[in-house]
Amino acid sequence: MIVPFLDLKAQYLELKEKFNAVYIRVMDSGTYISGSEVEAFETEFAAYCQVKHCIGVGNGLDALHLLLRASGIGTGDEVIVPSNTYIATWLAVTYSGATPVPVEPDERTYNINPDCIEKAITGRTKAIMPVHLYGQPADMDRINTLALRFGLKVFEDAAQAHGAHYKGRKTGSLGDAAGFSFYPGKNLGAFGDGGAVTTNDDVLAEKIRLLGNYGSRLKYHHEVKGFNSRLDELQAAMLRVKLTKLDEWNIRRKLVATQYLDQWQGVTNVMLPFVPLWADPVWHLFVIQSRQRNELHKQLAESGIGTMFHYPVPPHLQDAYVEYGYIRGAFPIAEKLSQDVLSLPIGPHLNPMQQQLVINNLKGRQI
Ligand SMILES: *Cc1c(COP(=O)(O)O)cnc(C)c1O
Repeated sequence: MIVPFLDLKAQYLELKEKFNAVYIRVMDSGTYISGSEVEAFETEFAAYCQVKHCIGVGNGLDALHLLLRASGIGTGDEVIVPSNTYIATWLAVTYSGATPVPVEPDERTYNINPDCIEKAITGRTKAIMPVHLYGQPADMDRINTLALRFGLKVFEDAAQAHGAHYKGRKTGSLGDAAGFSFYPGKNLGAFGDGGAVTTNDDVLAEKIRLLGNYGSRLKYHHEVKGFNSRLDELQAAMLRVKLTKLDEWNIRRKLVATQYLDQWQGVTNVMLPFVPLWADPVWHLFVIQSRQRNELHKQLAESGIGTMFHYPVPPHLQDAYVEYGYIRGAFPIAEKLSQDVLSLPIGPHLNPMQQQLVINNLKGRQI
């Protein structure tokens, strides 16, 4: 591929000396779990997200799962989730014992449609879990207003939106708590799995810390049946390096997105991403829609351009959720998006030649 969909090694190469030095530092420290690197990263990431607490955990799914459990959500409860999201949002809810209740997205922003949330609320609803999909913040003021009216918690799935702003405020600080993923391909990605919860709630933060560490505050004393889900020293130390670059890398993503949007103005065969005035997205993905998505994917691949589908099958139609008995047509917007969306290459290391190739390719074709 002349333009690979994602080039993870480029991030390593840009800061190779720093990462290698960090590796030696952590190896030499003799501490590999629960040490000063994790503590420092938690402080730095909390400050970055403009919140009081950050708790490092094993991955993004655990972050969402543990924050639900720590909030007392479980069997018999319902949590409102988008009908179009990565399956982890739903899995976090089912692992807690609660039931995910899907709500359709706005077709233009791809994010949960606040107009559709109210009719999904029942006497069992305990929380709303919006996803800042593709790096664009969901309409949090409207979601929070509804939540307040119905006495619900709001948890952000911020796994794709490190550093994004909503009306000038950072994602991760917009609800009761948020879950982040540091999976390598995310805007802030480790060299392995990692995740974090951010919150301003002292009690919740303490509970999540407890749950992720075997239910133990004092070694070998277990207050609750916890889990083992911790961010490790090496990943935390690497993330500290990348955090210093996150804003710059997000700006570079934005420059690519702006180029794409400018250059494709007037292109009628595809639908371009739409950004509301109040949103400052971080362009985790650049997602267009086309009725000929599969053909476009094939043709772009033949021109050396890698593209992907996020996501080809919505959660309610996955085999994993046959138990809910959803039929095709149950969530038509999510289903249509799953057939029409195409993610184009975007990232801090896409060079001008590569960008131009993508731009020209989409401009010059009939579909
Ligand atoms: C990546 C992702 C997750 C899960 O993160 P992991 O670290 O892979 O467990 C959750 N939600 C969304 C929307 C994601 O993109």
